[in-house]
Amino acid sequence: MTDLSNSRTRDTDSLLHPYANAMALKENGVQMISRGEGIRVFDDTGKPYIEAMAGLWCCGLGFNNAELIEAANEQMAKLPYYHIFSGRSHETALELAEKIKALAPGNMARVLYQSSGSEANDTQIKLAWYYNNARGKPQKKKLLSRMKGYHGVTIASASLTGLPYNHRDFDLPLDIVTHLRTPHHWREAEAGESELEFSARLARELEETILAEDPETIAAFIAEPVIGAGGVIVPPEGYFEAVMPVLEKYDILMIADEVITGFGRTGEWFGSQSFGYVPNSISMAKQLTAGFAPLSAVAIREDMASAIEENTGKIGSFGHGFTYGGHPVSCAVGIRTLEIYERDDIPGHVKRVSKRFAAHLDRLADHPLVGQARHAGLMGALELSPDGSTRMFDRPMLTGAKVAAELTARGVICRAIGDSLAFCPPMIITEAEVDELFDPVEDALNAAHDWARSEGLA
Ligand code: PMP
Repeated sequence: MTDLSNSRTRDTDSLLHPYANAMALKENGVQMISRGEGIRVFDDTGKPYIEAMAGLWCCGLGFNNAELIEAANEQMAKLPYYHIFSGRSHETALELAEKIKALAPGNMARVLYQSSGSEANDTQIKLAWYYNNARGKPQKKKLLSRMKGYHGVTIASASLTGLPYNHRDFDLPLDIVTHLRTPHHWREAEAGESELEFSARLARELEETILAEDPETIAAFIAEPVIGAGGVIVPPEGYFEAVMPVLEKYDILMIADEVITGFGRTGEWFGSQSFGYVPNSISMAKQLTAGFAPLSAVAIREDMASAIEENTGKIGSFGHGFTYGGHPVSCAVGIRTLEIYERDDIPGHVKRVSKRFAAHLDRLADHPLVGQARHAGLMGALELSPDGSTRMFDRPMLTGAKVAAELTARGVICRAIGDSLAFCPPMIITEAEVDELFDPVEDALNAAHDWARSEGLA
């Protein structure tokens, strides 16, 4: 029998945990997760939890898919590693790239591989710069992003990210990025402003920013179709329709960060399809391998691909690539993942089951501790508030953490993003399991509400 208390202390003696308060962890210990089955994971005492975040928005097929395990094992036995540098290639990298091209919108022409979403977005920046140098626009280098957008944690991708805790004390963001207003109608709109009017205002603000910075200096605008890690913020009606013509007018690339929204999450293959726009390039990761192996991909269109390729012809080599970009085991898992999504019509399943998911969230919007319910496909959030209005808590983040803890105690793992509670369950979830997931939520909200009142927060 493992000594659990001992392994909990050992953990913080040896690990510095991402996105955690190290001092609080030393005090309270970590939660050890030992195994997974379907949409559930089990802790080291054997207690089951519905994993309502699919891990980190990635395990679309749950936690023990036998076909993915088989694909990884087979590839591990056949060719556990090879790269695609300097004129070499392998079948799995090629086959997956062809599959991505066939599924992605916008006639994508080439695929580049990395291991993480952050590296994908770093690569996007480098491609935009390289492309603009190659086409004789070397001054076009600045990047536009949004407050609350999440694009990763490397120096460049963390700069794109619009969240204070990714910048604070890291000396970020770099001044290559300008952050625009969050497209969150409920919180940001003026009194009486409709979603369409708000979208039109955001497009005007975008144009004003471009003109103030000088359009000839701006390379790209990066956006998630639905902001994920910034709190599941669904764009207002008409948002991308309003933004896209502005970008086109000033020859600015639209990079779709589909690291969460790619591969069925919003009920279409890609989130940009759900919101009716076609980006110049797409970042994908997470559900590309259903979280079973690290892999990310960037897909680019023909105009960018040919300018880049011609330039490499002139200068002799394309000086970019990662040792593990296109890892054969990850690619083999990716191929099988996409085959399963297609065979089982996972986007169609998400579209169907998300109606029930949305109904639960909408019902909970009436709870006195909830300000707003948001959802797109199988991603959603409840934004907490002291009185159901847009008012924020005097002491932020405590109530969100409290509801998440109350839910964990009741067997559901979700994620508190500030005072929003995010849900992004495995895409294979059934309607009955959606009911099970939401069964304890009201009770957890009630318990947290009592606590918040006793603390003078609500
Ligand atoms: N982009 C988006 C939209 C993401 O949600 C994430 C991760 N949550 C990233 C980029 C960064 O991915 P990674 O953590 O794999 O670097």
